[in-house]
Amino acid sequence: MKKLRIGWFSFSCCEDSTIIFTELLNEHFAQWRKLLDIRAMLVLQKKEDMTSLDVAFVEGAVTSRDQSDKLKLIRNRAKKLVAIGSCACIGMPSAQRNLFNAETKAEIEAILTRFKYSEKVLKLSEVVPIDDQVPGCPMNEKIFLNILDKYLKEFKIDA
Ligand code: SF4
Repeated sequence: MKKLRIGWFSFSCCEDSTIIFTELLNEHFAQWRKLLDIRAMLVLQKKEDMTSLDVAFVEGAVTSRDQSDKLKLIRNRAKKLVAIGSCACIGMPSAQRNLFNAETKAEIEAILTRFKYSEKVLKLSEVVPIDDQVPGCPMNEKIFLNILDKYLKEFKIDA
């Protein structure tokens, strides 16, 4: 039976939306096991298969060149990309350091260099086009479920 091939990815953030999604997995497991093929989700499995995703859900903001490259790869491999949570949608609160004054920026300079962080923290849409977004900090469950339902219908996935 055809399933929706999804991936769940986290960039710089506290991963609270991942926790919400795992709670939802507990609640909806009986139904979703027939509908979802989870190809990538590091909290569930180490192996990431990104060969061909229907939908990629991405939380967190982009803080380094490596993350930016990985997001571009995900965008390349996924038919749809959904920004999950405020950090992914608008950058904040992960992007707080963008607002630091010159003195505080100078103080964190060594950390940025050491961990190869970029000068500016970016929301997902500053790096790649996104198809949908789930706002909230953490993500709004109801909006997430509506978007998931929309893609199940669009990709003609039926239990
Ligand atoms: S949007 Fe909120 S809950 Fe989600 S990663 Fe950012 S800070 Fe955490």
